[in-house]
Amino acid sequence: MICAISPPWGFPLDKEDLVFDRRHLWHPYTSMTEPLPVYPVASAGGVHIRLADGRELVDGMSSWWAAIHGYNHPVLNQAITDQTARMAHVMFGGLTHEPAVELGRLLVALTPEPLTRVFFSDSGSVAVEVALKMALQYQHALGRPEKYRLLTIQGGYHGDTFHAMSVCDPITGMHHIFRHALPHQLFAPKPRCGFNDDWDEEDIDELARLMAEHRNELAAVIVEPIVQGAGGMRFYHPEYLRRLRSLCDQHDLLLIFDEIATGFGRSGKLFAAEHAGVAPDIMCLGKALTGGYLTLAATLATDRVADIISAGKPGVFMHGPTFMANPLACSVAVASIKLLLASPWQELLQAMEKQLRRELAPAAMLPQVRDVRVLGGIGVIEMREEVDVGTLQRFFVEQGVWIRPFANLIYIMPPYIIKADDLRRLTAAMVAAAAQ
Ligand code: PMP
Repeated sequence: MICAISPPWGFPLDKEDLVFDRRHLWHPYTSMTEPLPVYPVASAGGVHIRLADGRELVDGMSSWWAAIHGYNHPVLNQAITDQTARMAHVMFGGLTHEPAVELGRLLVALTPEPLTRVFFSDSGSVAVEVALKMALQYQHALGRPEKYRLLTIQGGYHGDTFHAMSVCDPITGMHHIFRHALPHQLFAPKPRCGFNDDWDEEDIDELARLMAEHRNELAAVIVEPIVQGAGGMRFYHPEYLRRLRSLCDQHDLLLIFDEIATGFGRSGKLFAAEHAGVAPDIMCLGKALTGGYLTLAATLATDRVADIISAGKPGVFMHGPTFMANPLACSVAVASIKLLLASPWQELLQAMEKQLRRELAPAAMLPQVRDVRVLGGIGVIEMREEVDVGTLQRFFVEQGVWIRPFANLIYIMPPYIIKADDLRRLTAAMVAAAAQ
């Protein structure tokens, strides 16, 4: 069939377009026969998303943790325009370019010191696949191919591809659907001590026991440091990470930190690992890496991991995506990181944390609320029961805010540039939704 091609830009979606969307386009975690409504967006700028019908929403989601500088930022736009004029893409096999080198330099300089080797890929899930593959290839190169299993903690989320899914929480991570196809990993209980609680030595006992018992079959431990995001929005104690680091050293296991959601300031530190002052052997970055402009991820490793993989057979790391180190994505990532470092991001996040604490506190009095918690630029109201996403979504849009809850969690992580009055609209809507 020959389609008439007309430029779609600038024209709002009409009713027919929405029927096409509903009939043909699969949205995330959505039924194709009973999809929830989707709201057509005409444009976005700063912290505002403009719907096709003219309504303007204050964005509480940063497009799933990514758009930390807000939308349509002139500096990020310019970085892409400039790079497009040079080249949109060239393969990374046998070629290299300035945006990749500059981004690599920045990542090596900013991440914990032992991380020196950078592998670029296309998305967070792939960065996790790469990290896990590195851990397995490392053990293989050391002549220990039987060490291929992974240990993690319940309540985690690491992505939707298969090996990443195998280390997601076994209940919320849908293991039951794919149980015959998924590698079977080991799960310690969720850390019980919250970020601000007193540390309880027993919190790490079961993980330590599992590690000792299975050390001969384990390749690595993978966790989201401090913030368990899509698996439950929980903040755990930094001491847990320090104990975990020393246990991994004791049992000669690699430690992988998935900083895809927490990286680039969200928890109040540039990387959440800094709350504990520990460094992993392998670290995954994504989401806010490009300021939410393009999909790009990175897996960083220590010299030791890279050298051992390279010394083993076949002597190369077995991964190489088509769009590896895409120049457009790398150049906007460089611009986004420089923008972040040039901004008073710590003060912005401290102010956001203070305001979130103050304005979400009233929700803690509601009988239907189990917990209210805040860390850096993340504010969470945990309900006792699951929420009705469709109903709440409509309520939030009517209130002029964009907040997308899941399970029993009403939460926000707005762009860092949000002003106090826009943040107040978000928190007021959250408390009102919890009270309904
Ligand atoms: N790890 C963590 C901690 C995440 O929050 C996510 C995405 N929510 C991923 C991995 C997967 O990233 P992506 O959606 O880009 O594949």
